[in-house]
Amino acid sequence: MLVDMHLHEKTFSHDSFLSMKEIVDIAKLRGLDAVCITDHDDMGMKDLVREYSEELEFPIFVGVEFFSLWGDITAWGIDTIPDHRIGAQDFIDHVNASGGFCVSCHPFRNNNRGLEDNLRRVRGLHGVEVLNGSASMEANRTALRYCRELGLKAIGGSDAHNTAQVAKYVTWLPETVTTLPDFVAQLRSRDTKPAIWNGSGFDIVDTF
Ligand SMILES: [Zn+2]
Repeated sequence: MLVDMHLHEKTFSHDSFLSMKEIVDIAKLRGLDAVCITDHDDMGMKDLVREYSEELEFPIFVGVEFFSLWGDITAWGIDTIPDHRIGAQDFIDHVNASGGFCVSCHPFRNNNRGLEDNLRRVRGLHGVEVLNGSASMEANRTALRYCRELGLKAIGGSDAHNTAQVAKYVTWLPETVTTLPDFVAQLRSRDTKPAIWNGSGFDIVDTF
């Protein structure tokens, strides 16, 4: 299955212009099987997602992009998020205690919100976002190098805040699933690959 694992919807991400319908329309057009909403430090979308999924007839998995003291981490499969900034390791431990899945997103993007070399210090992280739609290719290649060095899963996500960015980069997983628990279980147990929109389809890649 193909999933855009990093998207901001405007209800809870106030820097986003995207509505859920706009996100899903583009996802369907490009042949994605699901999308993730990873709003900034907010999982309010969890309460609305069943309605949206039924209305738009599309799987939507709600995670979060949590701004830890060392930078942003996206996570799925947790019920609560801390109400203030905490250390990256403490957040990763929280995710693992819940049986969730967490990713260092845009670790080397030039916005001072990536884990950067702290990637080597944390324990229990599952994946690295090696293709982020808002990071430079150089930053993405550095992320890929760390991902391989650390033996973590390679994740792709658009980090879209407007329609032009949606599904630029996505993640490939071997099985197609439609529920969040199945998605998290697969992320934890199976291989993932990043994929790049080429104008007419997705190239699933090992390197770039
Ligand atoms: Zn983001």
